[in-house]
Amino acid sequence: MNLDEYRGVWVFNEQRDGELVDVGLELLGAGRELADKLETELCGVLIGHNVKDLAAELFEHGADKVYLIDDPITEQYRTETYMKAAGDLVRKYKPEIFLYGATSNGKDLASAVATEVMTGLTADTTLLDVNVEKRLFEASRPAFGGNIMATILCKKHRPQMATVRPKVMKKPERQPGRTGEVIEETISMREEDLRTKIIDIVRDTKKGVNLEEADIIVAAGKGVKDEKGFKLVEDLATVLNATVGASRDVVEAGICGHDHQVGQTGATVTPKLYIAAGISGAIQHIVGMQNSEMIIAINNDPDAAIFNTAHYGIVGDLFEVLPLLTEEFKKALQEETEEGGVPSHA
Ligand code: FAD
Repeated sequence: MNLDEYRGVWVFNEQRDGELVDVGLELLGAGRELADKLETELCGVLIGHNVKDLAAELFEHGADKVYLIDDPITEQYRTETYMKAAGDLVRKYKPEIFLYGATSNGKDLASAVATEVMTGLTADTTLLDVNVEKRLFEASRPAFGGNIMATILCKKHRPQMATVRPKVMKKPERQPGRTGEVIEETISMREEDLRTKIIDIVRDTKKGVNLEEADIIVAAGKGVKDEKGFKLVEDLATVLNATVGASRDVVEAGICGHDHQVGQTGATVTPKLYIAAGISGAIQHIVGMQNSEMIIAINNDPDAAIFNTAHYGIVGDLFEVLPLLTEEFKKALQEETEEGGVPSHA
């Protein structure tokens, strides 16, 4: 394999029902940085049906080119068709780096393309960089149960590929009017050749905990001890109009459901405010919340690791601190409303 034939940073811009999935736009931001360091172009990959118009959004988020496959056969995601579409593009245009969002479809496609074009893939990365001199992509992720960060290289094959969790990278600022080149290709597959048929699409309408979109999270750690302690976290969350998060130990103790879990095997969150109550700060928890804009930790152990990540720390007993905070916020927000203003957290 002649590695020098491979140039350009690509991002799979997943769309569902004609709407771009946010993580693809986030990856255009990260991809732009890599492409600039390597002095190469940033390209979006758009596959679907009647999706050509979405290319404009990709340009405005930093793409120089968009590779487009627009065909009824790719209207809905199927491994067979998307693997063929993306694999053909890779073989023809030879990208150096190819990034995918770690959504169910993104993860499925990335692993399928890796086997199709015989290259490596680093899954669930949280940090991306590049060694410019060697043109080596450095994809880092927690390893060995999250106790270390491992940087994984793909030295002998191209493209160098990674999936990245949603919300880990920041969406770049939109540059209205920015344009680029659309390169349209066709897919040489017919519906009759496919082993998978889509009979119906059933949407899950269950309203779960949406940690990823939350602006404020109050999270409970094992320090809450039981449901009674957890209730204090819920009380503060109610006053702040916040979402309740939890460490894995709280979930495993059966105090709340897994949909509240933040961390390596839970949600990755980026709220404006993250209040961690009785959480020790294990790396597996930290990787899920460290990009929060402001982190406040409450812990009765002044040496707890969480204080290394927190912007503000309260050393104290959460059974005393949480009710005080709830009371004070309630008063402050009430005063704001009485003065005729809109509560600032609304
Ligand atoms: P603890 O570590 O027990 O900490 C409790 C804290 O509460 C202590 O710091 C203590 O000082 C404090 N405390 C106690 N009483 C009080 C009080 N009255 N007032 C104030 N503070 C008090 N963990 C996650 O959270 N998310 C994950 O996604 C995740 N994934 C994992 C994946 C793998 C493969 C592995 C191996 C582990 C994973 N873990 C995850 C578990 C992780 O390693 C820790 O065990 C877990 O985060 C610890 O939870 P905790 O901080 O609530 O509990």
